Amino acid sequence: MLDYHLHLWPHGRRATQATVEELAAYCERAAAAGVTELALTEHLFRFDQADAALGGWWEDEADERLRAEMARYWHDHVSADLDAYVETCLAAKAAGLPVVMGMEVDYYPGRMDKVVALLTGYPFDVLLGSVHWLGTWMFDDLGSAVAMGEWDRRRVEDVWDAYTRALEELAGSASVDVLAHPDLCKVTCRRPAVPDEWYDRMAEAAAAAGLAAEVSSAGWRKPVDEAYPAPPLLARFRARGVPITTASDAHGLADVAARSSDLRAMVRAAGYTELRAFDGRVPRAVAI
Ligand SMILES: [Zn+2]
Ligand SMILES: [Zn+2]
Repeated sequence: MLDYHLHLWPHGRRATQATVEELAAYCERAAAAGVTELALTEHLFRFDQADAALGGWWEDEADERLRAEMARYWHDHVSADLDAYVETCLAAKAAGLPVVMGMEVDYYPGRMDKVVALLTGYPFDVLLGSVHWLGTWMFDDLGSAVAMGEWDRRRVEDVWDAYTRALEELAGSASVDVLAHPDLCKVTCRRPAVPDEWYDRMAEAAAAAGLAAEVSSAGWRKPVDEAYPAPPLLARFRARGVPITTASDAHGLADVAARSSDLRAMVRAAGYTELRAFDGRVPRAVAI
């Protein structure tokens, strides 16, 4: 089993100096849960270098409240040095820990060339692609009254459509290897009565771009109380031959390898017989 989505730091402007010892503790906890390989995947937007390349991307948003909320969130999270992060990940690998170096990369419409340019110089093993915001609306920021209030102003079908379109564009940008939490748009529990057309498009986006899809236990810690992806979407990934990773999306030691045995049962039930890992962004099969 894999835990291919791990953050080194909690959300917000807090300590962002991870040590090899902390990563060793991640590995130890994972091994106890039967997880043999981990991917370190901090958010791109935590790094000063991302701020330099992308900061202010929200400024053409027409809605002043959403624009201000995104600016606040962004500035509350930028606090780390990308070179120090890479150094720590490489030191963990050199120490023999079963980790690969990755990153969770958000979708920035019209700016993915800047993202690629920023990341190209580093020896990443795997890049996760995520859609966490639509325009500047942080639809999954459960702690934001502005973000949650926005759900009441939009039709759920329109939200799912915008999310899926962003996922399709992200997949088509050829900048990442794995679609993280692929049906994150269900996070607050609001979903269309018949979500099939969006599930079809999400699965097709991954298949057409040759990407893997992440199967994540994080959804069980959210109001939706369901793993990402929903079983009908996982079945569609399987039917289209889309490979998968498994992941916890932990933001600290307590959730590392969370519910990995439930994920194992889920992917086996869907018919999967192996998982996908990466070295230097080259895929490799591993046992479930
Ligand atoms: Zn995410
Ligand atoms: Zn994450």
